[in-house]
Amino acid sequence: MPEGDVVYRTARRLGRALDGRVLVRSDFRVPRYATADLTGRRVLETVSRGKHLLTRVEGDLTVHTHLRMEGSWQISPAGRRLPPGDVVRLVLANTEWQAAGVRLGMVDLVATAEEHRLVGHLGPDPLGPDWDVAEAARRLARDPRATIGEALLDQRNLAGVGTVYRAETLFLAGVSPWRPVGEIEDVERIAVLARRLLHANRDRATRATTGDPRAGRDMWVYGRAGRSCLRCGHRISRGEMGAQPQERLIFWCRHCQPGEPAG
Ligand SMILES: [Zn+2]
Repeated sequence: MPEGDVVYRTARRLGRALDGRVLVRSDFRVPRYATADLTGRRVLETVSRGKHLLTRVEGDLTVHTHLRMEGSWQISPAGRRLPPGDVVRLVLANTEWQAAGVRLGMVDLVATAEEHRLVGHLGPDPLGPDWDVAEAARRLARDPRATIGEALLDQRNLAGVGTVYRAETLFLAGVSPWRPVGEIEDVERIAVLARRLLHANRDRATRATTGDPRAGRDMWVYGRAGRSCLRCGHRISRGEMGAQPQERLIFWCRHCQPGEPAG
């Protein structure tokens, strides 16, 4: 699933293709907006907010999209054939470039002034201009009984962290994902680490949290169940946590990240 770094880069790619240019085509292939037409309007900018994308268009309109599990924006020279099959949800094009939203999880068209209805619930974005580490820590600590693993994935606390950055952040913090937030002394440090990892990867095509991009060494724990911890040599554990079925996977090192509650 795309996390904040991928969505940030997607916003920049969309910006390079669309910003400042007038749309000559807008094709909403979702029933709710089947008749919407943005042609003749200039695109102002695309920004990311956690895992959400906001494409602002002249005339106080915002196209809101979300990649969810397997969505992407594919950009190509105008007039190229679109990806085959019934996968394109939205096309925005100017005379030079076309952007095809493929398998998007969400597509909305709202007044720019109403964006908050779609993204107002989100916590501070580690890649956003208004990142506020104290506020992020305050939100993470809001429910002292929640596990830190669940709290980190809750987009109302921190926007943009998914299962990869959750696992890697907690490894670097040396904190078990199963620890209740109320038992963690320095929650702010965890927010700082999450931001550092996302920030370090926002311009990289190949994600690495260890500083080593080689396959098998690019992550400390994520996807490494049963293999040796790169730091201590113990076997990496894998488990499931939280309520959202697709977001459950957690990886951790029991030796480097102690404090798992008994039972
Ligand atoms: Zn270890």
